[in-house]
Amino acid sequence: MRRRARIAAIAWPLIAVALLAVNADAALAGTSSLRPTVPPDGLSVRALATALLDSTTGTAAAAHANVAALGARIDALRAEDASVRVDLAALDPAAAGRDPYLGRLLRDAISASADGGRDASALSLSEQVGGADVIAERATLVSRDATLGGLSLTLSDAASRTTTDLNVLEAARSAALALGSPSTSDPAAGLAQIDALTAQVARARVALASDSAVTVGVPLAPIAPWTWPVAGTISQGFGPTSIDLEAPRVYAGIAFPYFHDAVDIAAPLGSPVVAAAGGTVTFVGRFSDGAMVVQITSPDGLQETYAHLDDLASPPPVKVNSAVAAGQRIGTVGLTGITTGPHLHFSVYRGTTPVDPLPLLPPRG
Ligand SMILES: [Zn+2]
Repeated sequence: MRRRARIAAIAWPLIAVALLAVNADAALAGTSSLRPTVPPDGLSVRALATALLDSTTGTAAAAHANVAALGARIDALRAEDASVRVDLAALDPAAAGRDPYLGRLLRDAISASADGGRDASALSLSEQVGGADVIAERATLVSRDATLGGLSLTLSDAASRTTTDLNVLEAARSAALALGSPSTSDPAAGLAQIDALTAQVARARVALASDSAVTVGVPLAPIAPWTWPVAGTISQGFGPTSIDLEAPRVYAGIAFPYFHDAVDIAAPLGSPVVAAAGGTVTFVGRFSDGAMVVQITSPDGLQETYAHLDDLASPPPVKVNSAVAAGQRIGTVGLTGITTGPHLHFSVYRGTTPVDPLPLLPPRG
């Protein structure tokens, strides 16, 4: 949105200059009767060519600016992806060492409990969770890597199509420029050429509009940093857990008997809850357990859920389709739904896959 405003800021003065130029040309046309040596048709070819050139100046400038902005955003996405891959490579030996071990451990634990026995594993719960943390972190990075790769491909595709269509527009503009020169001799042929160029320009405009439509929904600026949704302490982290209130889940290829798909942040009743990331409110209401919930979908497609909000003293002040900024108040900590105490259950999903919210949040001071 900010970028569109910038293009408008560039385009409007250019359009204004173009309009002035058209007026100047019209003024020149008005004096033509004083110059009988210039055939009237030849002059109208020149005027039409100049008008065509001027009317496309803004479109061409916007398309050039678009190609430049796409290039800069693609470079930034690739740099970010490279750093994600460095993190991933640093993590991989540890994760590779733990994956099969944790998987075997969990299978042992599940078969031991199916036999009516106890978990005979030598590893403590904290060691299991430590392994799961590495797996979860790797899964977050793999998902981030795929997202960044997909975004840069989409934008590269849009940039190359915009360049192609811009070349068609610029070719028409060069031809119009040649027609506008005083050496134009055959008015009938010139008018036919103007018609052909006008059609070419119209096709290029349609193509350029559809090129920009491809990038709708792809953030052209880096996503603003997230904020903590509530001031408090983490009472339950993201990942596998021994708490049997949580649902089973297959995560990063491993079946976990209980998996917490969120972070729980304990905070006093009535603490303000703010949007961790900007976006559009896509749900306000109750989950099946009675929890009051606000869901926000961010421009990059992530969906954040804020649960156990208060619904009496200060219910959520936002509605479905409200646009919210990061840090904007969307509710207060309550006790709705199944909860052992006042806390915010904060989850982030990409499609049907939960994402660990912690790496998305700024470090705590
Ligand atoms: Zn929770």
